[in-house]
Amino acid sequence: MKLIFITGWTISGLGKGITSASIARLLESSGKKITMIKMDPYLQVDAGTMSPYEHWEVFVTDDWGETDLDLWNYERFTNISLWKDNNITTWKIYLNVINKERAGEYLWKTVQIIPHITNEIKDNILEVAKDAEITLIEVWGTVWDIEGQPFLEAIRQLKLELGKQNIIYVHVAPLLYLPFSWELKTKPIQFSVKQLMSYWIIPDILVTRTEKTITPEIRKKISLSCDIVEENIIEAKNAKTIYSVPELFRKQNLDKIILNHFWYSWEKANLKNWNDLVNKILYPKKEINIAIIWKYTQFLDTYKSISEALIHSWVANNTKVVVNWVDSEKLNLEKLEELKKSGKMDAILIPWGFWERWVEWKILATEFARVNKIPFLWICLWLQVAVIEFARNVCKLKNANSLEFDKNAEYKVIDFMEEQKNITKKGWTMRLWAYDAKLKKWSLVEKLYWTNKITERHRHRYEVNPEFYDILEKNWLTISWISPINSKLVEFVEIKNHPYFVATQAHPEFKSKLEKAHPLFEGLIKAWLENKKNF
Ligand code: GLN
Repeated sequence: MKLIFITGWTISGLGKGITSASIARLLESSGKKITMIKMDPYLQVDAGTMSPYEHWEVFVTDDWGETDLDLWNYERFTNISLWKDNNITTWKIYLNVINKERAGEYLWKTVQIIPHITNEIKDNILEVAKDAEITLIEVWGTVWDIEGQPFLEAIRQLKLELGKQNIIYVHVAPLLYLPFSWELKTKPIQFSVKQLMSYWIIPDILVTRTEKTITPEIRKKISLSCDIVEENIIEAKNAKTIYSVPELFRKQNLDKIILNHFWYSWEKANLKNWNDLVNKILYPKKEINIAIIWKYTQFLDTYKSISEALIHSWVANNTKVVVNWVDSEKLNLEKLEELKKSGKMDAILIPWGFWERWVEWKILATEFARVNKIPFLWICLWLQVAVIEFARNVCKLKNANSLEFDKNAEYKVIDFMEEQKNITKKGWTMRLWAYDAKLKKWSLVEKLYWTNKITERHRHRYEVNPEFYDILEKNWLTISWISPINSKLVEFVEIKNHPYFVATQAHPEFKSKLEKAHPLFEGLIKAWLENKKNF
């Protein structure tokens, strides 16, 4: 069992997740069986109850886990599938320890952070790692966080227990550049490595985030002060695309350094296919403008899976996707007309969301896209919006709405399904299944997926109300189904005589990868390319 721990400096957002995912890609391309863990020492059982304004988006695994977005980073860089156990949080650990204490497993002992919490952390890591040759474990936050202390202590102990040759510590830290004096400053790196050393952890590899090339003098200085050999100081210079980072690392022999440390034989990682795809990002042939109408406008990372899925479909279509972020608060008919006229809205995508704020604008955008035949892909909440718009304007159900937006609406075309009615707790109670869906014969989605049986991940509470299935279908809304036990739920809707009108209740963006663009995203761009002369 070989473990690689990745820690980070004083601020998050430095690229620790991309570093971890890129190392994983390299090792997988060297033929190693890998898996990955994200350790999130924040006090939460899972990421499901976090706000998109504070913690970006929530990723859903095939086994219903609501986890940190980094798990998706890992999946889209590699061929692995991750499960909820691949995300370890403080409360998850504490819950286990408290349950064991109540069950009497620690009878006559004083239950303490060391050894009970640290042992539980180690057990959780080893349980996941047992099926892989190499496991990469990213530690959330910085080496200074109070919450992280038991985690750092646990990973330190593992070196002693498993042996030095089976453990690698990678530390990610920035080389600060002072533009006014043209200087590179190494002190932040030195201090964070010193902080790590206070846990008796000395990094084997330092990934240095930098704007400028590391000079030989600077390399020597870092090496001497941090006790890391010069070859193991990896330069992670700002890249044009995150997908070029594996190659950047390979050029500096990072795969060789790791495999040699673990006493594996080394053969150059084969990144040929990967790099060909990266070249399509760097040198696209065509260009499309997609308007994303977004709600949680604080961080772009709130819609990370969506924007990355668009990059994957950019690669599949060899067409650069220029995203125009349109704040749903500022939307109105004039704005939509203006976007269309100025060529900033070749296609529209509306991602997920909760609650009624600005929803009427999105209903308007749906009508605009439907009537003006602008290709669009509506995700999760926006399938519900698409159905509301269709019910109001095509089926003539006046003021049709969702229970989520209007409790007194006469026609609740979107409603709770039975089991959601009795739910009182918010944590882990949404519909999170990855169920099989049956796609309607001859439908557009069947054509796009090339099959009529698919599985997608979900994260929502409301559903299309079965009382309205008939009237919607009679008015030519094509519905594809998902069939969980005892019910038949709407999974996709589409209309004919439109270049691309697809809405899905699922989150297809979670399954998109660079090497395997998601068919719904790929199809959106293709539809525009094929119909462009008609617009
Ligand atoms: N708010 C909607 C629901 O809970 C949709 C959620 C989403 O877009 N993920 O059903």
